[in-house]
Amino acid sequence: MTKRDYYEVLGVDKNASEDEIKKAYRKIAIKYHPDRNPGSKEAEEKFKEAAEAYDVLHDPQKRQQYDQFGFDGPNMGGFGGFSGGGFSMDDIFSMFGDVFGGHGGFSGFGGFGGGTRQPAQHRGSDLRLKVRLSLQEVASGVTKKFKVKKDITCQHCHGTGAEHGSSSETCPTCHGSGVVTRTTQSLFGMMQSQSVCPTCQGEGTIIKDKCHECHGSGVVKGEEVVEINIPAGVAEGMVVNVPGKGNAGIHNGIPGNIQVFVEEEPNDTFVRDGSNLIYNLLLDFPTAALGGTAEIPTVDGSKVKIKIEPGTQPGKTLRLRDKGLREVQGYGRDTGDLIVNISVYVPKELSKNEKKALEELQKSDNFKGDSATKKSIFDKFRNYFS
Ligand SMILES: [Zn+2]
Ligand SMILES: [Zn+2]
Repeated sequence: MTKRDYYEVLGVDKNASEDEIKKAYRKIAIKYHPDRNPGSKEAEEKFKEAAEAYDVLHDPQKRQQYDQFGFDGPNMGGFGGFSGGGFSMDDIFSMFGDVFGGHGGFSGFGGFGGGTRQPAQHRGSDLRLKVRLSLQEVASGVTKKFKVKKDITCQHCHGTGAEHGSSSETCPTCHGSGVVTRTTQSLFGMMQSQSVCPTCQGEGTIIKDKCHECHGSGVVKGEEVVEINIPAGVAEGMVVNVPGKGNAGIHNGIPGNIQVFVEEEPNDTFVRDGSNLIYNLLLDFPTAALGGTAEIPTVDGSKVKIKIEPGTQPGKTLRLRDKGLREVQGYGRDTGDLIVNISVYVPKELSKNEKKALEELQKSDNFKGDSATKKSIFDKFRNYFS
């Protein structure tokens, strides 16, 4: 690959002043700016080529080396990594502040450094939706359909904004550049600033005969049924972003996003703690004392049988591994646990026979509980309330 001479790239002569170099670069940068040439590889190459030439020629030291040694100069490899072709778009955009006055005057190209290559005003706006999910839906993930009222691309003109068969012409205000330059007096002398052309909104062209359906904007009010996948494990307050499903951008600009705000329905069976679920098992006293089995519901609707050891105490917890909720991708362990919190049920009313049986048991010292147990329960309570 042969490189073009930097002076040739900018179309200036070897004795050009710094100011001439800046002006020349600015002209080329505007002409080949990616926002103005979406998808054009050739324009992107020209844009990069000019940025590289400018980076060298506007710096007196680099320029002097270049003049002396050409591309093979001792330090040429150090010029922002040019030799490796590693001059990124972000590097170029960060140079714009310098070229265009450094006071945000070049505000038209909202995508600078932000990764978008579309003028900001052509991106459709975002839409916000709310979705209320049951715990079961959170557990499994769910696809929800929404009928969304939004700006959609005009079918009559296919988003161009022009009536069928009519063409567009070069904007008379900016002569096709999409920007207008203003010269203002400031503390530091005359300053030039550039902003989006108000006549064509930066497009460089205006539509002669506007579409009668959308009045030239390329978008109309409409409705769309949107299917949104909510991943498993989301939680109250999380936002699921659905790119490209928001309002259509004018003149086929990038559509906005839909942001889905998650709300959780309270659940009667489980308490959620992050990705863990807590289930309160109310065990009958004979099973707690004698041991046995208990059935624990899980969030997917199935049941798990657990063994109850003889002499199970109230307040004991059991952990059912991986029976909780899946984590939303990318955080920690994959699935939480189901934590079973055991308490013992005491009947509020007793039959005559039950009462008699319990009074028999009451006489047994074994049912009195030792002081150590009593003390620890007392301590537990004291800790709660202190
Ligand atoms: Zn239209
Ligand atoms: Zn214009």
